[in-house]
Amino acid sequence: MSERGLTPALSPSNAAELDALDATSLRARLCERADDAWRLACEIHPALPRPRVWFDLKGRSAGQAHYGRGGLRFNAVLLTDNRHVFFDEIVPHEMAHWLVFHLENGARARPHGREWKGVMRGLYGLTPHVTHRLDVSRASPQPYLYRCDCETPHRFTARRHAMARRGSRYACRRCGSRLRFERVVAADTPAVPNA
Ligand SMILES: [Zn+2]
Ligand SMILES: [Zn+2]
Repeated sequence: MSERGLTPALSPSNAAELDALDATSLRARLCERADDAWRLACEIHPALPRPRVWFDLKGRSAGQAHYGRGGLRFNAVLLTDNRHVFFDEIVPHEMAHWLVFHLENGARARPHGREWKGVMRGLYGLTPHVTHRLDVSRASPQPYLYRCDCETPHRFTARRHAMARRGSRYACRRCGSRLRFERVVAADTPAVPNA
């Protein structure tokens, strides 16, 4: 994932140590990490407000800078299953949005545009990825992938999957063929953090 010449500005997290934390400690630790990322951002913009942090984001998004609420939202389920990625990439990713938004004219910058990429590289020493490879199998409300004859992907909830297992028939609205279960969406499905 690293780009030549880039050195992460935040100290690399220890995956084994993070994996050993309970939910409460993990959240507390993530807030500390956000503070570290915020202090770095203050070197560029000393008046940058300290963002509040919530863990109420749902679905397939990992994080979101919420300017109206004045802070960063994180996905608790994805955090639990992807601790290392959150500490090393998602936190700086969202803090870079927070910083850019508060820069002069930053509110008009594109979400993953030149300014944001510049902060990711220049301040955090990271390759600016817009998407992340995350395990979203538990966070996604529709983790069951079904296929039909026209290759339109269909995604089922656990409830609908159970119905299909018990014999309910579902057909593709485009090609009319019966939907067949293929697999549970695997650990390498990319999730896109919100702007
Ligand atoms: Zn079809
Ligand atoms: Zn983003």
